[in-house]
Amino acid sequence: MSAPVLRPYQLDLVSKVEASASRSVLMVSATGSGKTTVYEALARRETARGGRVVILADREELVRQAHDRIGGTVIMGSYRPTPDVARPEAPGVTIASVATLARRSEAPDATLVFCDEAHLYAASSFRRVAEAYRGSGAKLVGGTATPARLDGQGLGLLFDEVVQGPSAEELIRDGWLVPVDHRAPSGPWWESVKLSGGDFDTAGLEAASSAVLRDVAGRWQDLGGESRPTLVFAATKAHAAKLADEFSALLFLHGLPPAEVVTDDTPAAVRRSVRDRIQSGALRCVVTVGVLGTGFDAPAISCIVMARPTLSWALYLQQGGRGLRTAPGKTDLLLVDCAGNSLRHGLLTKPFEVNLEGLTRKHRRAVAGLTTCRRCFRVYEWTLPACPACGAAKPRGAERKVREVDGQLIELTGAQQWAERAAAGAQVRKLAAWIREGEEKGWKPAAPMARFRGTFSRWATRDEIEQAKRLARASA
Ligand SMILES: [Zn+2]
Repeated sequence: MSAPVLRPYQLDLVSKVEASASRSVLMVSATGSGKTTVYEALARRETARGGRVVILADREELVRQAHDRIGGTVIMGSYRPTPDVARPEAPGVTIASVATLARRSEAPDATLVFCDEAHLYAASSFRRVAEAYRGSGAKLVGGTATPARLDGQGLGLLFDEVVQGPSAEELIRDGWLVPVDHRAPSGPWWESVKLSGGDFDTAGLEAASSAVLRDVAGRWQDLGGESRPTLVFAATKAHAAKLADEFSALLFLHGLPPAEVVTDDTPAAVRRSVRDRIQSGALRCVVTVGVLGTGFDAPAISCIVMARPTLSWALYLQQGGRGLRTAPGKTDLLLVDCAGNSLRHGLLTKPFEVNLEGLTRKHRRAVAGLTTCRRCFRVYEWTLPACPACGAAKPRGAERKVREVDGQLIELTGAQQWAERAAAGAQVRKLAAWIREGEEKGWKPAAPMARFRGTFSRWATRDEIEQAKRLARASA
């Protein structure tokens, strides 16, 4: 192993982890802060003292990435890494797929064990592997950017102590990550989707999203997304395929290659090729269903499109975090949030306080106080006097509303209420256009309302119909 060059905060994390007397430490550090570099430094020091290190990773990409960086022995199913002279020698280091170890009765000895993506280790089979190491006397070090399981359960069962790295906000201030330009240009098309398993039902999202496929791609283009390497998060594979068609149609107009879809069906070699091509600029847009949520390392990505609404704050951070890394020529991340996630969870870079029992309470408090610019859809803190992107005046009417969804309180900010009203307004304008078209073409009187139902998956209210008729008359 050649010595890694540590940033000041990474050096600080290394000393904090080493100084901790706890048997298991959870290291919390923002996405893009370079956790692998910290593991590498800790591993070098441990092996120099004669210790043995095991690095656990939950997926093939992470095993490969860690092996390319750190070297050592690999345990992953039937996989055998090809001998590579460029790869560092690392005696005493093993990099293992945690799923492979969970299926075996024996695991390599260790004095120091890393659990990458530690939030996944509340799952029983992963937890058994980690607990066995803890029980054997090894020191367990978990690393995560999102110290909550996707279902919100804390990690207190496995870890005794938290070592906290800098927040994304601090990393941006010091130039280690890029700032985020949040835009929320799409209305609440997910509103009618039922919840299942604590989040939006994905099949329901797929159905509801059919009305806004073109809108999502259009908003991305309106905001200049086509000039940026872009990663789009969809709800399902079918949704991803349809979105890719819409994005490809716009990319074609700009003379750019079509969007590509990557799901868990995509072979690892193709995934790597997609990553390399988006990184080199040969590919402009990738649509995925969360398989890239962790471990997809393409720092060039400077635009994230969220087309999958989620109640999971961790999922939101993981997806948005894919665009925070710095790269040559990259000045910021454009977050095109067509899923209401920024208003639901707060700004991507908002600092949070870590608590091993879960973070819902503090986190929920942080969500209040955002607003969306009516002119440019920028999401910003309510305390600012005007939109920081275009200077437009702050929208009025920010009285707070709290709604309970499946036992979880969702705070509606003034901006979200506004976004809902704005979306309803756009639907009324659409209805007015159909009423006019119907009159011109001699449709049956109910036909515009049926079309409204077919497009927006709900019937127009009496008020909306009255309003649409007035609009239709006014423009006739
Ligand atoms: Zn604005």
